[in-house]
Amino acid sequence: MIVRPKGTKDVLPAEAGLWQQIEAAARQMAEEYAFGEIRTPVFEYTELFSRGVGETSDIVNKEMYTFLDKGNRSITLRPEGTAGVARAFLENGLMGGAMPFKAYYLISAFRYERPQAGRLREFHQFGAELYGAAEPFADAEIISYADGFLKRLGLKKVSLLINSIGCKECRKKYHEALKEYFRPHLDEMCGDCRTRFEKNPMRILDCKEENCKKYTACAPKMLDYLCDDCRAHFESVKSLLTAAGVQYTVDPSIVRGLDYYSRTVFEFTSDAAGAQGTVLGGGRYDTLLEQMGEKPVPAVGFAAGIERLIMVMTAENAAFGGKRRGKCYLLGMDETSRKTAFTLAQKLRGAGIPCETDLMNRSVKAQFKYADKSEARFVVVLGERELAEGTAQVKDMKNSSAESVKLEELCQYLSGRIDL
Ligand code: ATP
Ligand code: MG
Repeated sequence: MIVRPKGTKDVLPAEAGLWQQIEAAARQMAEEYAFGEIRTPVFEYTELFSRGVGETSDIVNKEMYTFLDKGNRSITLRPEGTAGVARAFLENGLMGGAMPFKAYYLISAFRYERPQAGRLREFHQFGAELYGAAEPFADAEIISYADGFLKRLGLKKVSLLINSIGCKECRKKYHEALKEYFRPHLDEMCGDCRTRFEKNPMRILDCKEENCKKYTACAPKMLDYLCDDCRAHFESVKSLLTAAGVQYTVDPSIVRGLDYYSRTVFEFTSDAAGAQGTVLGGGRYDTLLEQMGEKPVPAVGFAAGIERLIMVMTAENAAFGGKRRGKCYLLGMDETSRKTAFTLAQKLRGAGIPCETDLMNRSVKAQFKYADKSEARFVVVLGERELAEGTAQVKDMKNSSAESVKLEELCQYLSGRIDL
């Protein structure tokens, strides 16, 4: 048997309802916040990610699915959504349109990581991006959007952690302080951290190795090095969040894994997801477009991992309570009524009533068994007598009662009851 590649998952119909619930909440929130949907290619030129996401990020260093296509171009399956949206924003001249530009996406993303619970090689994200606004209002809007989304999913035990990682200017002094602090411990730290030490010492704070974490706990904090502008920005974001009723904790260890962030960074975490506790992360990335060789445009956004949301929702019992739309089963007792059931099913579907009929030449008993097993809400029984009278026996599977209904009134009868 051919099996699925390591780190991928099948979503089967029984689980798909939960995915649809999350996607519906994402789209509903987007509409309320007036974000339009954007769809970009699954693969891009590799350079987009090496320039956009950044050479010192884990993603670019070791997690990308990169290959040469038949034309010898280096192609990469998108490891995240932001870089593709930034490219589309520039390439389609959206900067000339109404600002801020606000877009959301529901995508699959690919990272070559060690598969484990909550960490896959193909995973899915819901993300939102806001371009053109440098004001703290934009940060607060994005964070309250993310907060509202998680609440809409019924999650109660997620906490919001926020931090500021300053701008290029104030980070210079901070990097020096970090280097001074980590230098004596460097020999005991992992190889990645030794590289980070040279290239981007702040990334050491995001290391997942237990041994390195020992040293990061007491490291100098960026918040103590913020310049006046960055500090004022952070203070405003916090006060707007408080005004919006969004609860947060300032956590100086949040630095995020990607190179493009500046100023505000945040994560929503939950203990329910086990070791991979971050369900949603985001922040401001005012230097992203500049990194891609364009004029700087301020931007802020977030991305949530759908698989991790599912883990947390399941653990919190917030998962879809089986509220799938009801459906009917049209049961023909003999050859003639089986045909009537088949054509009647098309008519009912045309009226928006989900229904099924026998496709396997089953006996009446077997059809009832199937209707029961597949959780039909109503079984519409058609036999010789019913056809002669122009009626059907409609059996309510919830309370086992049955009623005779005229065929011409069937649509109306069912549409009033199917969702009850
Ligand atoms: P982590 O620190 O857990 O590796 P990250 O900082 O790499 O996360 P982001 O790039 O910010 O994650 O992606 C946003 C969200 O996407 C994460 O918070 C997480 O919920 C989800 N995510 C990231 N990588 C994976 C993965 N390999 N499998 C499943 N979900 C993922
Ligand atoms: Mg990661």
